[in-house]
Amino acid sequence: MKILIAKTAGFCMGVRRAVEMVLEAPEKHEGPICTYGPLIHNPQVLGLLAEKGITVCDRIPPSGRGTILIRAHGVPPDAKEGLAAAGFKVIDATCPRVIRVQTIIRKHAAKGYASIIIGDRDHPEVIGLKGYAGENGYVAASLEDLQQLPRFEKAIIVAQTTQNTGLYEAIKTWAASHVPHYDIYDTICDSTEKRQAEVQCLAAQVDAVVVVGGKESGNTQRIYEVARSTGKPAFHVETEEELDLDALAHFLQVGVTAGASTPNWQIKKVCRALESAPYRRVTGWRRTLYRFQRGLLLTNLYVALGAGGLGYASMQLQGLHHFLPHGLVAMLYVLSMHLLNHLTGGEADRYNDPGRANFYQRYKRPLAVMAVAGGAGGLGIAMGAGPLPFGLLLVMSLLGLSYNLNILPAFVSGGRYHRIKDIPGSKTFLIAAAWGLVTAVMPALSENGRIGPDTLAALVWTVGLVFGRTAFFDLLDMQGDRLVGRETLPIVLGAKRAMELLKLSLVLLIVLPVLTSALGLSTSLGYFLIIIPASMLVVITSFERGKLMPGARLEFLTESHFILAGIIGVVWAAITIGHP
Ligand code: SF4
Repeated sequence: MKILIAKTAGFCMGVRRAVEMVLEAPEKHEGPICTYGPLIHNPQVLGLLAEKGITVCDRIPPSGRGTILIRAHGVPPDAKEGLAAAGFKVIDATCPRVIRVQTIIRKHAAKGYASIIIGDRDHPEVIGLKGYAGENGYVAASLEDLQQLPRFEKAIIVAQTTQNTGLYEAIKTWAASHVPHYDIYDTICDSTEKRQAEVQCLAAQVDAVVVVGGKESGNTQRIYEVARSTGKPAFHVETEEELDLDALAHFLQVGVTAGASTPNWQIKKVCRALESAPYRRVTGWRRTLYRFQRGLLLTNLYVALGAGGLGYASMQLQGLHHFLPHGLVAMLYVLSMHLLNHLTGGEADRYNDPGRANFYQRYKRPLAVMAVAGGAGGLGIAMGAGPLPFGLLLVMSLLGLSYNLNILPAFVSGGRYHRIKDIPGSKTFLIAAAWGLVTAVMPALSENGRIGPDTLAALVWTVGLVFGRTAFFDLLDMQGDRLVGRETLPIVLGAKRAMELLKLSLVLLIVLPVLTSALGLSTSLGYFLIIIPASMLVVITSFERGKLMPGARLEFLTESHFILAGIIGVVWAAITIGHP
């Protein structure tokens, strides 16, 4: 099954801003923290906020304490005043685009205009907008509603920001001929327009459309309506559990889109479930192959194979020879650390990859045994290579083990960071550095007893590649990571800058081995290894353009690059035997 994801699927600017403001609130503002009404129409996000102790306050209490956040939909002005008067510190997370509509209404209401809001009477945004119109506010849910309103001397027409664009166009056409003196404002958010336009294009390219989002979410319902109006089978689901996988397994191409209040991790969960749908119907080798592929990823055996491949290429780049022990050390160390990381700090997996979280929960013991055995095996082999490699691996293993533990003294960050993991961006850099040390530095230390320019060149190349891989996965997991408070590099830098940095580093990695080979710092393998960062760049750009979707296949493809590096190394070695 081919799955196409709409580029506009997921949080819109206003919702993302509101969610981030709420998640940051416990650190920035006095507690307890609550939101005035549900932050967004998404039960899963609301459940998560409740777990974090962020509650929902449905009405203005006689007295309150702590901080209250106004959600992206906005509220009537008297509600804001009432909350402040009750004793709350009020943080306004109203979307700037909703504030624009509130301002239009407020200014016109002050000049005696009637305000007609085209929207759902009970929607919180409409209730908030009506509050700015004072006595002269009216709501019309349809053209018929509008036609039944009295003719006003002075009036404006505005739309709820998530209104159906087709309906609003019809209203504007009618108003232009019947009430031409009314001022009409285009207030439908372009995020909504783009979503509705894109779902039409998407439906034309696929056999069925899945719309992900809260059942109470107005904008999700409208996207679903637009999808259905195209005549293609459309499914509205809140979670992956609601997918009718048996029915969906018959379609060759499925489009996935989502409402403005649907987090990326929820879309990813649906995509992962869809990805597995065809394998419900097939039997035999294809099903076995899928399970084998998923098993390799879940157990981290594939990542470990990648470490072996990268280690082999790095050693060939430096002209080293004892591949087997060093390759094994790299594989066992990476296997052990990745397993331990998922076993001890996998809370983000609950959102980013629940299948993985379940797997680690279910097979906790055998995976822990595998992690310990891997770590001990790596140390045993390193011991045979000499005290320096052994000491280095021991330090790295201890650092890896303590990554999720509260070990940082209070003076390091004034008590803000307790674990190495809490240091912003640490995960991306530390993983890259650890891989670089086991694949480039350790083999050189044990074979030559020194670190020369050839090793430094290989170190930069391996660290850069693993940085690219890890930063890319961090980008895919951004929203889930943010929800559990993980400050990965993309969260610190922002998705756009992180993507730019990632692409720039891959471009530099294409140039680097060519340069070091030309300067004689690396073997001629460097000329062939440009394939690896170039191919990673293609994968990342394809993902950015919506040609690849997040899920097991993308993960497998990305991890395969390091194995490919090893294969290129083997082929190069076979071709250049006797001519290094
Ligand atoms: S849909 Fe538009 S107006 Fe509404 S919250 Fe999102 S960005 Fe703001």
